[in-house]
Amino acid sequence: MSEARSRQVIVAGAGIAGLTTALSFAVRGYPVRIFERAPKLEENGAGIQLSPNATRILDRLGVLAALRLTAVRPSAVILRDAASLAELGRVPLGAGAEQRWKAPYITLKRSDLQSALLAHVAREPGIELVTGADVKSASLHAHGVTASVETAAGTVRAGGLMLVGADGVWSKLRGLNGSAGNSRFSGEIAWRRTVSANSPAGKALISIGVTGAVTAFVHPGFHLVAYPVSGGSALNLVAMVAGAAMAETWSGKMDSAVLKRAMARTAPALRGLADDGEAWTVWPIHTVAADEPWVAPGGIALIGDAAHAMVPYAAQGGAMAIEDGETLAARVVGRQGTLGAALTAWEKERRSRIARVVRRGATNRRAWHAAGAVAKLRNVYLKVQSPTRLAAGFDWLYGWEPPVIKG
Ligand SMILES: Cc1cc2nc3c(=O)[nH]c(=O)nc-3n(C[C@H](O)[C@H](O)[C@H](O)COP(=O)(O)OP(=O)(O)OC[C@H]3O[C@@H](n4cnc5c(N)ncnc54)[C@H](O)[C@@H]3O)c2cc1C
Repeated sequence: MSEARSRQVIVAGAGIAGLTTALSFAVRGYPVRIFERAPKLEENGAGIQLSPNATRILDRLGVLAALRLTAVRPSAVILRDAASLAELGRVPLGAGAEQRWKAPYITLKRSDLQSALLAHVAREPGIELVTGADVKSASLHAHGVTASVETAAGTVRAGGLMLVGADGVWSKLRGLNGSAGNSRFSGEIAWRRTVSANSPAGKALISIGVTGAVTAFVHPGFHLVAYPVSGGSALNLVAMVAGAAMAETWSGKMDSAVLKRAMARTAPALRGLADDGEAWTVWPIHTVAADEPWVAPGGIALIGDAAHAMVPYAAQGGAMAIEDGETLAARVVGRQGTLGAALTAWEKERRSRIARVVRRGATNRRAWHAAGAVAKLRNVYLKVQSPTRLAAGFDWLYGWEPPVIKG
């Protein structure tokens, strides 16, 4: 096997996970071919929060500087009661966060993140990105892995050291390493919308304090998160509401009566958002069972949502995808034993962290959607915590550094 082939990494999927992984391998001298099913890479206008554990890696990959041009550095994450609008708790961010966790907390449009990652991929001579290329299957053999990829020109066979399955929550590659394959509908639908800060909806939100911060409005069985993007000229909104299973897409439609019902008892400025005739897009929240295998020691690793899609209550799915890519490349390139041993070690090290993040998301869900006595307890708990103490509760998550690989 040639030297190039012995290092060639094949990545299925050019989302956050796939693009970051490609950069992480390429900066360490491993050539990468990314195969992306979509003919054209387009991100919708939705937003994303990137916490310091993720921006630290993006900074090392040289991507953060481009993000700073349009991203907002929110001053805090604020929890408010969606009915009374009373502030329940506040985690300070901004310059304090940057000092505490040694990297910024930012909010931005997904399309800005994708553009910055793609620009870096294009500049990296070791990376080839092929769009309109659907990775259908892969076989493991003595020299590594061969993927079978369907393109408009016919089926291409691509060989390499290993295949990284970064093909998202509805991954077709998940079955390849012996896992059962399917994701599970969580019973919740994410409603998403971006509003201009100058629009009536934007002005209504700003009038209730949604400016320069990430605000989570909590309510029994429902919450709405609002944060600024595009230098503050727009606000990204995500509401989580129970709902029925629907088509697996980022841009679905649903009768707004469902949202209106969920928001019926919230403050008028919030209620109006479900009632102003503007379009929301909906996304069914699917998760992947935590006990499925993520690697086949012969040369397959699943990362990001393909491995461990989670409910977005900790706003960490994208951050975990970024951490996965960086740690996988460090483990594989820095290995002193076999590839299988490196992949197994990587999976073990990632499992404990991902499990903790998933537990954090479940706790947030219970707290944010609580009613009655549980909600009262939550409010009392938050009242007696100082903002600094609340921030300290995130040190394990945001202060995380990629482990040093000793081989
Ligand atoms: C409402 C909501 C809010 C969220 N907010 C946040 C947040 O604030 N912060 C955060 O960190 N995370 C957040 N997340 C989670 C985050 O969006 C995901 O974890 C992240 O986008 C997963 O990235 P990925 O690359 O693993 O998958 P994807 O982004 O789904 O990318 C998968 C790619 O693989 C391609 N593909 C699929 N099959 C194939 C194939 N067979 N061959 C080739 N290509 C293929 C797809 O076309 C796609 O481009 C949120 C999620 C939701 C639902």
